[in-house]
Amino acid sequence: MASKYCILVIEDEKSICNFISKALTAHDYKVVCAYTGKDGLSLISSLCPDIILLDLGLPDMDGINIIHSVREWSSNQLIVVSARSKESDKVAALDAGADDYISKPFGISELLARIRTSIRHSNKSNTSSQSADRPYHALDLTINYQNHVVTRGDTVIHLTPIEYKIVTYLAKNSGKVHTYSSIMQHVWGPYIDVNNTKILRVNMANIRHKIELNPAAPQYIFTEIEVGYRFLDDSE
Ligand code: CA
Repeated sequence: MASKYCILVIEDEKSICNFISKALTAHDYKVVCAYTGKDGLSLISSLCPDIILLDLGLPDMDGINIIHSVREWSSNQLIVVSARSKESDKVAALDAGADDYISKPFGISELLARIRTSIRHSNKSNTSSQSADRPYHALDLTINYQNHVVTRGDTVIHLTPIEYKIVTYLAKNSGKVHTYSSIMQHVWGPYIDVNNTKILRVNMANIRHKIELNPAAPQYIFTEIEVGYRFLDDSE
């Protein structure tokens, strides 16, 4: 039998810990809870959990500092679960190195979906580069990274080089939210002015018109308002 995935929940509210723990245990995950940032950090190094669920508002530390500290030495999948609803907090957490973000209150099915996405990404990054070049496929959309061809059904979609770069960046990390600044730095390089998102928004509008059947009701590219974009998860 395959060993269970281990999930560390760093959260000071015991009722939320219990709720998450019960739900995930019922889905065959191994769950460990830490109620302080300090305990969380020491469990991350001793347990090496597959996934960390991190609350930002902890009694002894700010969760953003935990993300910075974890990212100095570990690439564990880290999902922020927080009641902080300001977009700037989400952006700060993602740019500090969080892999994803869930706002409280949340449903268990959403949490499970994000966990599955994270596990798939961590498995992917552990396998050979060959599988990284495996085409993206979801609904009718296919992106063939080897010959740079994007198709929806039988239709070939013609993207400019910049549009293609944006699409492949999002698709290779599908299911996760990407901040405007991370996309812009990936596509235009480190010196781009990330505060001026107009160039990105214009390109995204063009991409949506080409990729989506109905850009007003997108199926592939979702906007996380004032945070960034999320590409429909690869249906691997
Ligand atoms: Ca809290």
